Amino acid sequence: MADSTLKVTTTEAPKENRVGLKATDYSGGKSTLCAGCGHDAISNQIIRAFYEMSVKPERVAKFSGIGCSSKTPAYFLSRSHGFNSVHGRMPAVATGAMLANHQLLGIGVSGDGDTASIGLGQFMHMVRRNIPIIYIIENNGVYGLTKGQFSATADEGSKLKTGVINDLPPMDLCALAVELGCGYVARGFAGDPKQMINILKGAIAHDGTAVIDVISPCVTFNNHEGSTKGYQYAKEHQELLQQIGFVQSYEQIEVEYEAGTVKEVELHDGSRILLKKLEEDYDPSDAVQALQRLHRAVEAGQMLTGLVYLKPEKKSFLKQLNMVDDPLWSLSQERTRPSREALDEIMRDLM
Ligand code: SF4
Repeated sequence: MADSTLKVTTTEAPKENRVGLKATDYSGGKSTLCAGCGHDAISNQIIRAFYEMSVKPERVAKFSGIGCSSKTPAYFLSRSHGFNSVHGRMPAVATGAMLANHQLLGIGVSGDGDTASIGLGQFMHMVRRNIPIIYIIENNGVYGLTKGQFSATADEGSKLKTGVINDLPPMDLCALAVELGCGYVARGFAGDPKQMINILKGAIAHDGTAVIDVISPCVTFNNHEGSTKGYQYAKEHQELLQQIGFVQSYEQIEVEYEAGTVKEVELHDGSRILLKKLEEDYDPSDAVQALQRLHRAVEAGQMLTGLVYLKPEKKSFLKQLNMVDDPLWSLSQERTRPSREALDEIMRDLM
């Protein structure tokens, strides 16, 4: 287990932001994730983005579901509101919270298991309604918290360390979000902080659902096959005295590459992924092009990163509902309860 407070990488930034807060005012509790887990790198960038954008932590509401990724809101913005919901049900909780108080800035952190399987219906309706929330999927293709089974985003033909081959095609959550009309769709890599910080800042400024799919390696299910010190060997030969575990510590992977280029990245288990960064002059306002590029990248065996689709004029759910300016939670009973005359009129209409 890691035992370190997440780093706040703000060396060039001023000590205090526009609301008079320091970077440390945006940190959270100590991470209990495996050392080197991509999710911690994402939390670092969330801390930095909210600090540099001068968002008061008390204005932020953090939401999550279940999984390793869903533990992470505890590791950033400890002064913010937080709600850890049940598996796959975070969008419903976030929808209620954002309707009750539209002055909050919502951020949800989910995983590929939480979003692409049990929570897929909720995810789709959240996007369709355009609930104003930053929705991050920390995507590693496995259920890390339950020992690494394939999730619905695992690539076809990929192999678990148990030797099981995934024979189902992956679900592309960016393509799905574009298809559902999401106004802000981006993909990042946990090891590319320069790109990640800008994607996050854009999402903070966006009014509506911002879907950010982040490739975030799970380091724990990587130990070598055949090793006599590996989990598998130990499990087969051990005599169990008690339930105890050890997780190898890994360095976080960090990459830097130019827009428009492809970068091959070796993960901790020796497998490789190809990241393709969108060109500087890529036009993210074209949904057809966005879907084409996502599909072409899959055909080329690449993961497309960057701001894939942007439609800022799309009305958020709150605007569609024509909500009153005051948050619903603050309205008095006199303003929310229909008058006796209004109720009588409804009753007459029903007769
Ligand atoms: Fe991260 Fe995988 Fe460890 Fe979960 S099991 S904390 S996803 S490295």
